[in-house]
Amino acid sequence: MAFDIEMIKKVYSRYEERVNAARSLVNKPLTLSEKILYTHLWDGNATETYDRGVSYVDFAPDRVAMQDATAQMALLQFMQAGRPQAAVPSTVHCDHLIQAKEGAQVDLQRANTESKEVFNFLGSVANKYGIGFWKPGAGIIHQVVLENYAFPGGMMIGTDSHTVNAGGLGMLAIGVGGADACDVMAGLPWELKFPKLIGVKLTGKLSGWTSPKDVILKVAGILTVKGGTGAVVEYFGEGAQSMSCTGKGTICNMGAEIGATTSTFGYDESMERYLRATGRADVADAANAVKEHLTADAEVYANPELYFDQLIEINLSELEPSLNGPFTPDLYTPVSRMREEAAKNGWPTKVEWGLIGSCTNSSYEDLSRAASIAKQAVDKGLVTKAEFGINPGSEQVRYTADRDGLLKTFEDLNATIFTNACGPCIGMWDRVGAEKQEKNTIVHSFNRNFAKRADGNPNTFAFVASPEIVAAIAISGDLGFNPLTDTLTNAHGEQVKLDPPTGDELPEKGFAVEDAGYQAPAEDGSSVVIDVNPDSDRLQLLEPFAAWEGTDLKGLKLLIKAKGKCTTDHISMAGPWLKYRGHLDNISNNMLIGAVNYFNEKTDSVKNQLTGEYGPVPATQRVYKVAGIGSIVVGDENYGEGSSREHAAMEPRHLGVRAVLVKSFARIHETNLKKQGMLGLTFANKEDYDKIQEDDTIDILGLTTFTPGQPLTLVLHHLDGTEDQILANHTYNAQQIEWFKEGGALNIIRKNQVK
Ligand code: SF4
Repeated sequence: MAFDIEMIKKVYSRYEERVNAARSLVNKPLTLSEKILYTHLWDGNATETYDRGVSYVDFAPDRVAMQDATAQMALLQFMQAGRPQAAVPSTVHCDHLIQAKEGAQVDLQRANTESKEVFNFLGSVANKYGIGFWKPGAGIIHQVVLENYAFPGGMMIGTDSHTVNAGGLGMLAIGVGGADACDVMAGLPWELKFPKLIGVKLTGKLSGWTSPKDVILKVAGILTVKGGTGAVVEYFGEGAQSMSCTGKGTICNMGAEIGATTSTFGYDESMERYLRATGRADVADAANAVKEHLTADAEVYANPELYFDQLIEINLSELEPSLNGPFTPDLYTPVSRMREEAAKNGWPTKVEWGLIGSCTNSSYEDLSRAASIAKQAVDKGLVTKAEFGINPGSEQVRYTADRDGLLKTFEDLNATIFTNACGPCIGMWDRVGAEKQEKNTIVHSFNRNFAKRADGNPNTFAFVASPEIVAAIAISGDLGFNPLTDTLTNAHGEQVKLDPPTGDELPEKGFAVEDAGYQAPAEDGSSVVIDVNPDSDRLQLLEPFAAWEGTDLKGLKLLIKAKGKCTTDHISMAGPWLKYRGHLDNISNNMLIGAVNYFNEKTDSVKNQLTGEYGPVPATQRVYKVAGIGSIVVGDENYGEGSSREHAAMEPRHLGVRAVLVKSFARIHETNLKKQGMLGLTFANKEDYDKIQEDDTIDILGLTTFTPGQPLTLVLHHLDGTEDQILANHTYNAQQIEWFKEGGALNIIRKNQVK
């Protein structure tokens, strides 16, 4: 599993020269984010300055990480690129396909049977192409990456939006689609719009019930789910330094929930401690040797308002623990106001489940703080009112927590210890009774709480909080319980109060593990054979998408005008559909089934313009496909927020949707559409969204002169014979226009390999 110390040293060896070159070019002190960006330019030393939020820049990431659900499509694409080995150190992590039901042992065994074909496929592709493979049960990708691969000042991409978690170790780690991972593994540059910079100054110190999770819950409340779009969030200040490395990871992790490109912290002693505790003393030594480059220049943090595009200040000493939700992670409510807010909004206050885990909060420190609350409950004679589920972040965390008695503490509260995997966080939760769709409340330490995410029930009100707050509220069974002030009645009828949590940043006796679950790739994988059964319903080798026909697109049918929030979960649902992530045609049967149709306010019910009948979105689109008619999807603000899954772009592409026209896009999804050769357009005037009618046939004009910065024209042919002409903006640069013309970025990679 060895991290690549030589690669890390190589990265550090170029820091001095490249940082100096960038500093003299931009002629001002540099933030940490800029240092990492400038030292990872594809073309070497900086020779030009970039406009934040405007310029597209080619970068050379140091690593790639992939989880099992997205890795299937990423690797299916990579196999088409024609390379013998991945060009940069890369890993695959099997964590998304393991359902939480009865407990770790039984659940893992079942997953190994049910998804055997997929795990074998991923293992053999990894073996063949020099990619590290983390077996099912080894842990959640981002926890395993933080424990093994993240390093200060590095740049990583990962096929999961919470790749950003590695910012806790001072990286710029960015969630991408599988197509981007495929590019980087194929040895190509990776393109990113040079980000804007948001500075978050943390003053004061966390204490009592308040934890790093509360910092990001607060930031999400301030910035909302869109506020970080196109920006790197850089945290600094005395408050940052006083926090553990995994706590920093928690904060960076949920940067995905504010739409940020990524988040990061400067290298400090907490990171050094974590590196040494996780067996990477040589990385710590190497980082110490260049540590002045692994944080911002001193002037930046002294006068941050001069160097960041936006600045937020949070005093940790005044911060209150909070719960965000329901249904969106930016709805911020401090615990002291929850009872009142719940009553006002009609949120059910009886808490049925408390779930601790996910890549956001499954470190040793997290488990130890939550366990300190669980232990008090047992010691003080409390009986937990809600059910408890725990997903440790990695086998190393699980093994160590077990050795130190933390898991036993949870078990004493009748908690179920699920596999070291995503489980309920990705909807892989066989929750008893969820099918009844009853209104109910759960609290969890995860990052997202969109409707239906955890258990598929649209009436589950999910609230996000720190593990210790989840523990306290689950014990009380009452959403309005404020552990700072309220008491609980124990089995003897006494009023007892929970003391603030305590915990260990790192295990006193050190981490331990017997089998971490890692499988190293073959030295020479050329003879490794990869089997994909042509009859498989889980895996399907890819066929290249057709190139653009060279003309304007005319006669497109409106497939759906989506109303309100349309996340990647709405476009390509997770949960039971996860198992088809490697089979494009099968998974396309979930296309947009979660999106709300503007015209009838229903999900998965759109008008087929050829028959006038209403039917499911995928089936309707398949009718258009068979008839050789293209279609267009219209959406609202921040369309495609949520995750990096390129299926949300590939499915419409596969089924014959030609364009997605929205008020605004989430960054990753917009890029994914471009990579797949789709047109991703935005209304030049957002009010034009109202002009789209249910029976519209739409022409897209201007494609023969498709040029960066030039809007395209859309003609809306309404059923009554009238027309509207509107303008659509796009952010395609010259290279991305080539992707569109060739039918997708992969078609260009393949062509270049063949040359
Ligand atoms: Fe897994 Fe949830 Fe983290 Fe995604 S957010 S990697 S599903 S634990």
